[in-house]
This record gives sequence, structure tokens and C-alpha cells, in this order.
Amino acid sequence: MPELPETETIARDLQARVRGASVRDVTVLRDDVLRGANAGELAEHVTGCTIAAVWRRAKLIVLDLEAPRASGSNHCGHAITRAGHIVVQPRFTGSLLVDDGTLPEGLADYLTVTFTLHDGRALHYRDVRRLGTVSWMNPARFAEYQRTLGPEPLDDEFTATTLRAALGDSSRVIKAALMDQHRLAGVGNIYATEALWAAQIDPSRETRSLVEPEWVALHDALRRILTASITARGTSFRDYRDASGERGDFVRQLQAYGREAQPCARCGKRLIATHAVDGRNTVFCAYCQR
Ligand SMILES: [Zn+2]
Repeated sequence: MPELPETETIARDLQARVRGASVRDVTVLRDDVLRGANAGELAEHVTGCTIAAVWRRAKLIVLDLEAPRASGSNHCGHAITRAGHIVVQPRFTGSLLVDDGTLPEGLADYLTVTFTLHDGRALHYRDVRRLGTVSWMNPARFAEYQRTLGPEPLDDEFTATTLRAALGDSSRVIKAALMDQHRLAGVGNIYATEALWAAQIDPSRETRSLVEPEWVALHDALRRILTASITARGTSFRDYRDASGERGDFVRQLQAYGREAQPCARCGKRLIATHAVDGRNTVFCAYCQR
């Protein structure tokens, strides 16, 4: 499931490749991924719009769309051109792919929504299991939705104090708190597992039991690991692909996630896998994570 680094990689690629393009038409092959608009409404909203920007929020890819001409004006008479946002949540098997005729073979199936661009290229939302979503949100709805999400761990102003304030009072286990998108944006099973290993914190600890040096260590680990993974273009397990259909390389730098029964790189004991922490697969070192 794409987390912050994978989603950031997709968004940056799309920003470089489709920003400024306009949408010629929309084809919906599987409408069960749509939210906020049916196929006809989506086409009505986005046809003719320009993709003004593509960026990431939490584990979502956001396309800012501008209307082709002034769709209204404010009290000063200035044109209002912001049409709305397409918000893509890839979840388990979703990917956004730019098709300029060079898309790798084998990725042309499982397409659900295709935006044909004015230059003939296509932007596909592909999803094997169709648990991901493509949402249409007008600016007010999008602003409201954003307010339900926690702070971004890579923002300049995100400090250890911010992290503690976002999570600290919870009696839940720290791993589950880290993965709660309402408290902290962008972190899922891979990066919660990795950050807790790096900070030497037992994933099953009650969040409120963490002390100041642990919050500092966890904050440092989160930012360092997320940044390193973006540099490596994310972690690929199974279905994650970037906007060109390529896999991410951070898998080689993982210290805990996916390494159950292998030796801990810090102390040499065997890493343990359990579902007892939060119902998800959690890998940790019972000797040096306390
Ligand atoms: Zn260890």
C-alpha cells in the first residue's frame, strides 16, 4: 500500500509530466472507484479543465483543476478559475499511470478511469482490486476534508513537539497511533515499523508512555526514513508502481519490515513477526526495541 514516499514519488512525476495539460475527455470503465461524482458528472466537471498542479497530501494524490474560462467572479470582479480537485487514494493496488505509448506491457489491464489529455496522452487510474478511490471534490469540500487529516511529518514546522502533541495522549499502542491519518499524515505499516525499529521503541508500547528522548528519536527516525525512501523512489511490494510503471528501490534499505526471522542489524538477534500489536503484521526486535 503506497505510503508517503510512494505517493510523493507519484505526485512529483505527475507534476513534471502532466502539469499544464488539459483534459480532452474522460472514460470510466469501472465506476465503483468513483466518489463525489458519477461518471457523467465527473466528465462534466473535468472535461476542458487544465491540470494546474499535482501534489501529495497524506497518502493521497491531488490534482488541482482549473476551469477553461471564468466560471464566475468574486466581488472584485476577478475571475474564479479554480474548478476543483481530483483526489486519488491508491490504497492497496491503485496506481496513476501516464500513457504516452511507452507504458510497460502488462499494465494496460485493470484500468478503471482514463483521462485523455489534449496532446493525445492518457492518464490512467489502474487498480487491480479496486479498493482505491478517485474522488471529485469542489474547493470547499476539499478544504473540509483536509482538516480531518493530521500534520505532514516532512513539513519544516513539524518538530518532535508537534509529533508528541499529535499522538501523545493516546492509550493506544504507538504503532497504531503513528498510522492514524487523522493524527499523523502519510505513515502506514512500512514506515511505522521502520521508524519504531530505528528509534528502538517497542511497537506495542502505550503511546502516552513514551518519554521526551523517545519522541525526539522517533521524530528524527520518521523524517530521516521518509526522506531516504523518497530519494529511493519508495518501497515496492507487489503492486506499487510509480507514474511510469517502475518499482521503488527503498526495499533494499528496510531494516525490519518484511525481514521477520532475519537477524536484527543492530544486535544480531532474530526479528519477530506478530499480529498481536494492531492486527497488522508487525516486525520488531524484542531485544533492542524497548
Ligand atoms: Zn535488535
